[in-house]
Amino acid sequence: MPDESDATDVADTTLTADPNCLFCRIVAGSVPSTQVYHDDDVIAFCDRNPQAPTHVLIIPRLHVAGINAPEAADGPLLAAMVRAANAVARAEGIAESGFRLVWNVGHDAGQSVFHLHLHLLGGRPLGWPPG
Ligand code: AMP
Ligand code: ZN
Repeated sequence: MPDESDATDVADTTLTADPNCLFCRIVAGSVPSTQVYHDDDVIAFCDRNPQAPTHVLIIPRLHVAGINAPEAADGPLLAAMVRAANAVARAEGIAESGFRLVWNVGHDAGQSVFHLHLHLLGGRPLGWPPG
């Protein structure tokens, strides 16, 4: 499992875990997941309803509701997520064939979990426009 834990430091003590949040519980380990990456700031695990041969979710360890939350404007946090996505893409063997990174925001995009997550999709040609 790639670990680039010394790559960045985005710890922000104003953010805490939400005990009612599914992804906070995955971070805590009280809900199981198939983890494929972790570092000090983020973890990545397989989506339980994969939409492509590779479908991984990259999430911050600390609770942020979504990409439209004020905390998501934190540059180092977003950089850590993108760095992790690239590391997972390399580890999954899709860095060369290509992949898609998706942030769903709100109702029309179908956001269903309100803990910031970046979808990494790849392993097949991905249609455009998306559905
Ligand atoms: P979104 O629709 O953008 O909010 O994405 C939420 C994603 O979380 C969906 O693709 C779900 O399949 C996925 N998901 C929900 N619960 C779990 C879980 N326990 N483990 C892994 N993935 C999950
Ligand atoms: Zn959370």
